[in-house]
Amino acid sequence: MYAAMIKDNTPFQHTSGHVGFYKDSSLATMLNFINEAVMVLDINGNIEMLNSQAALLFDGKKDQLAGENLLAFLRDETGRSHSQIIHCLDKASSEIINTPPLEVTVCRLGPSHSVVSVELTLSSLPQALSADSALFLCILRDLTVHKAEYSSLKRKAETDFLTGLANRHKFADYLSQQWAKCEEDDLPLSIIFIDIDHFKRFNDDYGHIMGDRCLKRIGETLNLSLPNRNTLAARYGGEEFALILPNCSAQTAQLLAIRIKRHLAQLSAKHFALMSSVGLTVSMGVATQESHRYETSDALLHAADTLLYQAKSKGRDQICYL
Ligand code: GH3
Ligand code: MG
Ligand code: MG
Repeated sequence: MYAAMIKDNTPFQHTSGHVGFYKDSSLATMLNFINEAVMVLDINGNIEMLNSQAALLFDGKKDQLAGENLLAFLRDETGRSHSQIIHCLDKASSEIINTPPLEVTVCRLGPSHSVVSVELTLSSLPQALSADSALFLCILRDLTVHKAEYSSLKRKAETDFLTGLANRHKFADYLSQQWAKCEEDDLPLSIIFIDIDHFKRFNDDYGHIMGDRCLKRIGETLNLSLPNRNTLAARYGGEEFALILPNCSAQTAQLLAIRIKRHLAQLSAKHFALMSSVGLTVSMGVATQESHRYETSDALLHAADTLLYQAKSKGRDQICYL
């Protein structure tokens, strides 16, 4: 096994102590000039050489890393990254490889032993640059910034700006995911629709800014009323909210609807009733998938929506369920 460090143009040494020369030592010089973290690996994944950027990415020194096996640094609970890399290197024994980017998690050497998400590509080095056995260029890109930006954008794409609740897009994704899960595990799934009564009048009387403030407060109250982490509260439309309650029976969902209505009434009394001649009330529809009553999640939504409009037509300020 070679374990050579890059020292500018100096030849590379075997860890075994033999003096070994790569066919072209300009490879090392070249690595030092590349503005990416780069390693040269042998067919078993052993690190033959690396540049300073690679050492920095691993939070170690070049001579600590040279001679080690790259696979030993992977945090890989499922074993997927190991097998992907081993598969590529195996393939490389019979053909020239140039892998698409593989996303892996690397355990760093520093005192905190932090982990970093990295995108890794492997390509065969031309024979002219290799030693007696095949060598591979491993380019590593730190994904930390990219990942943080991605999560921030994802959060924004799923969140209603005014209330901070899930938006309709997230609602639809979560419903289809939980519908499939509850059907598979034969668990109930409940939906609660909540619509503010006569909200147009509230806006007309107090203006849109007060209306917005009111929607925000209702969002906060809903969030505080959620029974567990699996429950999702969303702003379904303008002044309409919806809850998804996985593993929640019809009876539990009805009791929760009553509690939420009480919390909203307290909020209304405290913050809005003094200003509004009508007070602020809500109508609710509660539907539950139990005993395979509905064929699809759309049918369940439709049922909850129909029940909400029953509550409206019966005079508002009430909850309807089957
Ligand atoms: P109903 O009891 O039948 O639900 O009556 P409503 O007035 O609440 O219902 P309608 O559908 O007639 O009007 C909804 C109102 O909600 C009208 C619209 O101005 C208001 N609204 C929707 N989105 C927002 C928002 O983001 N901010 C504010 N301030 N008002 C909103
Ligand atoms: Mg309304
Ligand atoms: Mg409405």
